[in-house]
Amino acid sequence: GVEWTGKVALVTGAGSGIGQASAEAFARAGAKVAVVDLDVAGGERVVENIKAAGGEAFFIASNVSDENAVKEMVAETLSRYGRLDAAHNNAGISPDTGLTADCPFDVWNQVMAVNLTGTWLCMKHQIPALLAGGGGAIVNTGSVNSIKGAPKLSAYAASKHGLVGLTRTAAIEYAAQNIRVNMICPGITLTPMLEKKAAEVDWDLKTAHQMVPIDRLAAPNEMAEAAVWLCSTSASYITGVVLSVDGGMTLN
Ligand code: NAD
Repeated sequence: GVEWTGKVALVTGAGSGIGQASAEAFARAGAKVAVVDLDVAGGERVVENIKAAGGEAFFIASNVSDENAVKEMVAETLSRYGRLDAAHNNAGISPDTGLTADCPFDVWNQVMAVNLTGTWLCMKHQIPALLAGGGGAIVNTGSVNSIKGAPKLSAYAASKHGLVGLTRTAAIEYAAQNIRVNMICPGITLTPMLEKKAAEVDWDLKTAHQMVPIDRLAAPNEMAEAAVWLCSTSASYITGVVLSVDGGMTLN
């Protein structure tokens, strides 16, 4: 509790799944949390959960692919809590795009706008706020598809691979100013996104554990704990790392 007391964390895509678990984990650790999502009902529900558990949080409706909304998101965090110490850029989408030659131009652009450009826009406006407080940490959510290809998800895989370059570059640029920038690459995690995807492609999640050496799917909190740890002083010498949190899924 001591480390995060008085500190402020911002989590995007925090109205559901991994982002929800991350917002709740930062709050349990003692941080005040800015819960950011497009989905108002989802985000407000997460804030209620955090408050019911004795934590401190508030909701900001924002679209990470809209620069004005992102600017406003950081400004609202600063006006409400006075500082920013950690940011988990996690909002992402993964629509079925078909094979590479079949992906519609607008779907490609939409995936890039949210997953890659959206993460960059968040970092662009978070970094000055972190610097103003003497530094801090950023963690971006990648995927096993930051490391491996993903048939019929080429825009998703390209966006998630792109985050590797963005994370490593910003890590170098801001290391001397006390900002660490890292990435978690979740494996198959039981979230609404995964369930929706599985239903779309008629994938039986009961057999999905066979793809994972640990032999089970992940809980969202297992991603959240890694994200909070990367932002904590326990990880004070770790920057630019692309951390697989996937039960060994990318080992073979
Ligand atoms: P989810 O769909 O359950 O949650 C994502 C949240 O992001 C939703 O609440 C959604 O409203 C929000 N969001 C989407 N677009 C947004 C935008 N433009 N601005 C603000 N918020 C927006 O998904 P999840 O499974 O929790 O995924 C979270 C992240 O983890 C994503 O980046 C995803 O690619 C990544 N990931 C998930 C898995 C998995 O198995 N679930 C695996 C690897 C990576």
